[in-house]
This record gives sequence, C-alpha cells and structure tokens, in this order.
Amino acid sequence: MNKKGQGDLMVPNKLTFTPLFRQALPVLKQLTDHGYEAYFVGGSVRDALLGLEVNDIDIATSALPEEIKEIFPRTVDVGIDHGTVMVMVDGEAYEITTFRTESTYQDFRRPDSVEFVRSLREDLQRRDFTINAMAVDETGAIYDYYDGRADLEEGIIRAVGEADERFNEDALRMMRAVRFSAQLGFDIEASTELAIKENASLLEHIAVERIHIEFVKLMCSQARAKGLKSMLKTKLFEYCPELARNKLALMYLSNHEGDLQSEQQAWSLLVHYMNFLMPTNYRVDIRQFLRQWKSSNQVIAAVEAIVSGIQKRQATEMMDPFDIYQLGAELARDVEYLLTLIDGSGRPDEATAMHQSLQIKSQQELAISGADVMKLTDQKPGPWLGDVLAQLVEEVVYGRLDNNETILLAYVSEHLI
Ligand code: ATP
Ligand code: MG
Repeated sequence: MNKKGQGDLMVPNKLTFTPLFRQALPVLKQLTDHGYEAYFVGGSVRDALLGLEVNDIDIATSALPEEIKEIFPRTVDVGIDHGTVMVMVDGEAYEITTFRTESTYQDFRRPDSVEFVRSLREDLQRRDFTINAMAVDETGAIYDYYDGRADLEEGIIRAVGEADERFNEDALRMMRAVRFSAQLGFDIEASTELAIKENASLLEHIAVERIHIEFVKLMCSQARAKGLKSMLKTKLFEYCPELARNKLALMYLSNHEGDLQSEQQAWSLLVHYMNFLMPTNYRVDIRQFLRQWKSSNQVIAAVEAIVSGIQKRQATEMMDPFDIYQLGAELARDVEYLLTLIDGSGRPDEATAMHQSLQIKSQQELAISGADVMKLTDQKPGPWLGDVLAQLVEEVVYGRLDNNETILLAYVSEHLI
C-alpha cells in the first residue's frame, strides 16, 4: 500500500494485465474491431496500478448504447439513460459506459441527463479525482490527461479540475474523497480539502443511503483514522445524520487502532464510544440513530445485540454459555473482537470455541419438541409450552442436562409440569 512519505511506489508506464483484465480484453477488441474506441477506466485502473485486487472492471467506449447493443448479442439495459449497457461475454457480465459529460446538474446531485461525447479526454474530465480519471487501452497503454499517476505515486486525492466546481456539481464526491483517503491511506490535496471545507453543507442535498455507503466503507478501511480526521477537519461530519453532536466519539474511533471487518462491527464500535461519552446511565437509542442512517433492520438488530453484549461483558470476566447461545456464533465473536480493540480484553477465539461446544445452537435442536411435551402433559398449547422449552434450552445450554430425549422428558415430568 502506498503511503505518502514512503515514496516506494513507482507506477508503471504500461499496465500489465492480470487474468481478470485479460479475460475482459475481447470486450475491448470487439468494440475496437467495429471502429470504436474502448478502454478500461476508473477504479479498476486505479487499483490495478496500485497492485491491489480488482473485482469489477469498468469499460468506457465511444460507441453509443445502441451501437454497443448491435455488437454484442447478449446485453441488459442497466442504465441506458446514463449510457451504461451490461454485456455478457464468455459467461461474464461487463458494464460498458458510453463516453459522456455530465452537464446539467441540479440540486448538487448527479445529473438526470447526460450528454454523450466521442472523446475519451472529455469523459475522463467528468470523473471525480485524478486517480480515478485514467484509462488503459487493449495494449496496456495508459491515458492519463490529469496526472493521476503522479498523484498515485504521491498518495494524493485531488479533484479533476476546479475542486469547488466539482463538489458543487455533485456533493457526494466530498464523501468519496474522505473514503478514498481512508481506503488508500492517501492525503487530500490542500485546495481539494479546502473546497470540501467550504462546501461541506452541500452534503445535505445528498440521499442518506449514498452517504451511508461511503461512511461505512470509510470506517471499514485500513486507514480509518485518516478518513475520520479529514471528516472532522473539513466539518463533513456535521452534515451526516446524528454525527454533529458526536464529534468526540468520532475522535475516539479515529484514535483507536484495529480494523473493522463489517458494517455491524463499525456501527457497534461507534455507538459504544457514543455511550461511553454520554452521562452515566444514558444510552444511545440505537434504533433511532441507525434509522436516521437508513440502516437495514437486520443491521440494527445486530448492533443492538453487540453493543449490549459488550456492556454486559465489560462487567464480567467472560460471557457465559447462555450469552453465547443467545448471540450466536457471529455476534458473539463480534463482541469479543471489538473488546480487543476497546480495552484489549476480548477473546474472540474463545467465544468461537465456546459456541462450537454448545450442545445445541437453537431450540430446534432440542432432543424433544413442543409436540412431545404436549403429548406428555396432555395439555393444550399455550404460553406455558414456550416457558417449558425455554427452561429446557437453558438447562441444556448450561450443560446441566444432556440433550437426550429420555433425560429431557424425565426432567419435564419431574420439574416443569
Ligand atoms: P469503488 O468501486 O472501489 O468504490 P470506484 O472509483 O470504482 O471505487 P465507482 O463508484 O465504481 O467507484 O465508480 C467508477 C468510476 O466512475 C470512478 O472511478 C470514477 O471515475 C467515476 N465516478 C464514480 N462516481 C463518481 C462521481 N460521483 N463523480 C464523478 N465521477 C465518478
Ligand atoms: Mg468501482
């Protein structure tokens, strides 16, 4: 990974294609064989030049969407108004986007309509940062009109053209800047950073869902501290849901080392610090907080469980088997992993081992069912049945009873009815 100051990254003059790019070459070739220009562009070129793993390849061409569709037999209109057509070649899907400019910006968001152009240079000009504005042709030659390679080598995020204008066109770019800074460990160039500071409030025009994506990526990046410090310095955080009054928690999050591995881990650690910094006994309303961020119900439930798991665990030596059972393998591990970051007390491997050694992982795994209990008691089902099963689960999870049909039935008749 390139970090400023290390200066050890020499970006090559030509891209050596990895297998993924080689596999995509026929797509470029078919377009050029028909007389159009075609290039690999954007994030895939950036990551390839950095020697990072590339997962999806973006292709740009001078061919218009209709022209692309004439060339490839199998296509899907994924965003045809914006000039993007998905083509299937050798069982792989590729997104091909016609060279375009984005001229009509409304409300500081990406434009509703685009204008197709025939020149690569113009297409690259509408892209956000110099490191994202490079193209590579089928020979591996790099087209770098905005000095993206130099910025890659220096570790710099710099807007293409006039930063102030670019953030006025699309305010999400400011969040992308801090996110790339966190992902790549790059610094944001001074005039780009100043423009973010001056335009931070424009973020209010951007859909929360889109800010969410960038913020979670930032928190889960190796250089999280760098990205968060940029958010604090530029005041971008003040225009994110609920973060304005949680500046200290963000500072905590930026001062504590350790990778965050998932969205639920990231939110949980942030909420943990928010709680930590609140007056005693005051707890963040996690549901309300994450609803502002438009998080899914599944993530909200996971964060609630993890945060209370951490609280409980901080008051005791180790989770007991029933805590582990209730949390399940993943969340129990999340709790312990986050404790390793919070105060070094976490024991994730132990949590995993404890979960593996539980006799049952769910009520369904009990050796007897609700029907068996009803047969035994000859009673109608009701809330009592749930209570009996819950009691059995607890006995089995704590290892006080073996998960064995005869033993459980005997226990029910002796103690529970
Ligand atoms: P990643 O895929 O790792 O999130 P990326 O740079 O590939 O990063 P994408 O959203 O996949 O980001 O976009 C692909 C390319 O499209 C970018 O590299 C950039 O050239 C351009 N792009 C994306 N979003 C914007 C934007 N908001 N403004 C200008 N250009 C953009
Ligand atoms: Mg991408």
